[in-house]
Amino acid sequence: MLLASCAAAGAQQVPGEKRLRVVHTNDVHGHLLSAPTPWSGGRPVGGMAVLAAYFDSAAAHFDGPTLVLSGGDDMQGTAVSNLSAGRAAIQAMNAAGYDAAALGNHEFDWGQDTLRARVRESRFPWLAANLYLAGTTRNPAWVRPWVMIRRGGVKVAVVGVALAETPRIVLPDRVAGLEFGPEAPAIDRSARQARAAGADFVVVAIHSGAVCTEPGRAPEEASTGCTGDVLDVARALTERVDLIVGGHTHRRVVTEQGGVPVLEAGSYSEGFSVTDLARSGGRTRVAYRAVRVPWADSVHPDTAVARIVGAWDRRVRAVSESPVASLAAALDTVGGDFPLGRLMADGFRRVAHAQAALVNDGSIRRGLPAGTLTFGDLYELQPFKNMVVVQDVTGGVLRAALENALGKNGKPDANVAGITVAYDPAAPAGARVRSVRLDDGRELGDADRISLASSEFVAAGGDGYTMLRGVAARSSGVLDIDAVIAHLRALPQPAAAPTDKRWVPVRVDPAR
Ligand SMILES: [Zn+2]
Repeated sequence: MLLASCAAAGAQQVPGEKRLRVVHTNDVHGHLLSAPTPWSGGRPVGGMAVLAAYFDSAAAHFDGPTLVLSGGDDMQGTAVSNLSAGRAAIQAMNAAGYDAAALGNHEFDWGQDTLRARVRESRFPWLAANLYLAGTTRNPAWVRPWVMIRRGGVKVAVVGVALAETPRIVLPDRVAGLEFGPEAPAIDRSARQARAAGADFVVVAIHSGAVCTEPGRAPEEASTGCTGDVLDVARALTERVDLIVGGHTHRRVVTEQGGVPVLEAGSYSEGFSVTDLARSGGRTRVAYRAVRVPWADSVHPDTAVARIVGAWDRRVRAVSESPVASLAAALDTVGGDFPLGRLMADGFRRVAHAQAALVNDGSIRRGLPAGTLTFGDLYELQPFKNMVVVQDVTGGVLRAALENALGKNGKPDANVAGITVAYDPAAPAGARVRSVRLDDGRELGDADRISLASSEFVAAGGDGYTMLRGVAARSSGVLDIDAVIAHLRALPQPAAAPTDKRWVPVRVDPAR
């Protein structure tokens, strides 16, 4: 059993042997605070102060240096991290003693300027051997392909790799000017350089993962039936590496490929991997590898990390509990076309100074209560922090977008402003929109032009709005949440949502 070999490795230590312990997390996604999980039976798990305590304990119980690595996607996902655009996460990681991190796709969510600021604040390097300035073979100045870490007489090369498919899953402007190359050749190149520089161990941190079949296994047991990109990358390597720690799929992975351990530690700070490596006589042994659960109630959280996370939590609470407006009546999200959605579309239209607006229902995440609304209520209404953008579209493109909003079942799945759409729910898809009228009563022709406000997600073709993808989009400079807050505040208080029907079903009698 894997755990049993841990003690054995300690007993077998021979003079001159180089030893290294590597602990790793991935996809923490801003989960800096301990919390129960769906599977923890009410017990709190994780949080950066708790992880830091486990890292310290792992280092203290090992006779040799310990490295702490991240497989990426560290910042995006919770209010405590997102409201500082990841600064809170970086400060917590600094204090928790991370030594290096692979660059995850979600690191790009707030744009390259913000990412570079976060990288500057990090006391550890961000690594991406396969990230290049477009049209070159040079890495951007703010990432490094690999680093040599000298600790306790051991030289460890850490090679970092970004997700090769990042440009296909983030907004185009987030990765403008960058190219993501194949992983394996970039690792091979870095590993060659690292060995030539005298590395005792070469460890790969990669934002790429696997999925395993897990029939009720304990976290520390080996995984079975694993497939995934990280294993394909491991198979494609020509240079020898000693350990691969991954991420991205949010799974627990404890496996190996060609004798090289491949590990992934779940997500949301609910797991961390531990691997011990020993090298003597030109041979490297993997003594122990596992994923463990950082139970929050079985350690004393690291006080320095807890202080940082606690301060951010208080700041965020002060913001999230602050009142922003008051609402005359509770608003739900029932039906595809509802007053709350119309109110939001009005907000988009207002801040973008557009003739029309469209808000996809998928971006509307909760209803709102009557009475005082807090920033936290609005944050939960629209947690994605998308920019409101404007596109000058033809009537024909808008009609195609509205057809998409009618989806498969002929029911609207978006809320609009500035227009009234007459549609025939029974008509075949593509022929359901009968007319689009502007607020002044004019009917929009297919060749007419109209300025349309929507989220950058919709404008980039998300949720099936591919007809908008090719149309140039101007940023309003206002985030979706701020657009709706600004609109709510501009209304007489308590604010009321619009009751006018903007999607009007009509039955067109084919006999007439
Ligand atoms: Zn990811």
